Amino acid sequence: MQYDVIIVGGSYSGLSAALPLARARRRVLVVDEGVRRNRYAAHSHGFLTQDGNDPATIAQQGREQLMTYRTVEWLTGKAVGAERTDQGFRIRIEGAEPREASRIILASGVVDRLPDIPGLAERWGSRVFHCPYCHGYELDRGRIGIIATSAMSMHLALLLPDWGDTTLFLNEAFEPNTEQLAKLSARGVQLEREVVHRVDGDLDIVLRSGRSLRLDGLFVPTRVEVASPLAAMLGCEFDEGFFGRIIRTDAMKATSVKGVYACGDVARAGGSVPLAVGDGAMAGAATHQSLVFENH
Ligand SMILES: Cc1cc2nc3c(=O)[nH]c(=O)nc-3n(C[C@H](O)[C@H](O)[C@H](O)COP(=O)(O)OP(=O)(O)OC[C@H]3O[C@@H](n4cnc5c(N)ncnc54)[C@H](O)[C@@H]3O)c2cc1C
Repeated sequence: MQYDVIIVGGSYSGLSAALPLARARRRVLVVDEGVRRNRYAAHSHGFLTQDGNDPATIAQQGREQLMTYRTVEWLTGKAVGAERTDQGFRIRIEGAEPREASRIILASGVVDRLPDIPGLAERWGSRVFHCPYCHGYELDRGRIGIIATSAMSMHLALLLPDWGDTTLFLNEAFEPNTEQLAKLSARGVQLEREVVHRVDGDLDIVLRSGRSLRLDGLFVPTRVEVASPLAAMLGCEFDEGFFGRIIRTDAMKATSVKGVYACGDVARAGGSVPLAVGDGAMAGAATHQSLVFENH
């Protein structure tokens, strides 16, 4: 069966992309492995009408509403390959028959790569976060830290004092110059030059000498990697984003490959649930219009 659109990734951006297509009664297949980026967090913040709700429930409600449209199919599984065909594209799926479609939407998200510090990964999403807009308010203006991963960490370090007393752990990632030191001082950011050895307890940052600092929350600017190799297989171009490579898209969320669209974290430097939903809505409508107006 030839679908109009296959969407790879059925979380916030993929679900949102599917809706305008479903509402145009287009045949859509959503392939989803079910591994959302925010699965470590118990609450999602900053998305209108859903502020503070369980991220899994938000995604589940989205899926339930989408699946009331009869032209949409759902396949739980992992897309592992993609290639062009005469009529569009073929997607290979682990343990299932390949599926074909005229258009592809990549909504497969990103994977966070944390610095290799013992105790960090276990606290990811509960005490250790990437984004103060998502999780800063709940720290109640307590003691917060940021572990630098590069000079780019300056940006977050300068923002964080709005959420609490901030310590920047340089962790040998970079050394601020005179101008940067002045900016950090003006924002009241404390500097810690000793290397972080591990994270213990609720949130004790243990330094190489054994000295430790107790915090209420810790921020780490992760490197992100596009979660699936499909964009590369299809020949999409990438951009170097603030936190890692992302798929290049135009304002309509079209990639550099005709007929392939991308939305959500996979095609945005610094994503969030509301931004993923907005990008998805754009990708879905743009893909529908390309089905009407463009022959590939
Ligand atoms: C710890 C943490 C907490 C966060 N908290 C917040 C918050 O409070 N508020 C907020 O707005 N944002 C928050 N975020 C950011 C938010 O999670 C992302 O911006 C959002 O999930 C992006 O949605 P998405 O649809 O692009 O990708 P994702 O939600 O990551 O979904 C991608 C989907 O694609 C699937 N997929 C990937 N590869 C394949 C494949 N090959 N085949 C099939 N399926 C595939 C995945 O399994 C997944 O279901 C948080 C992130 C983290 C890490």
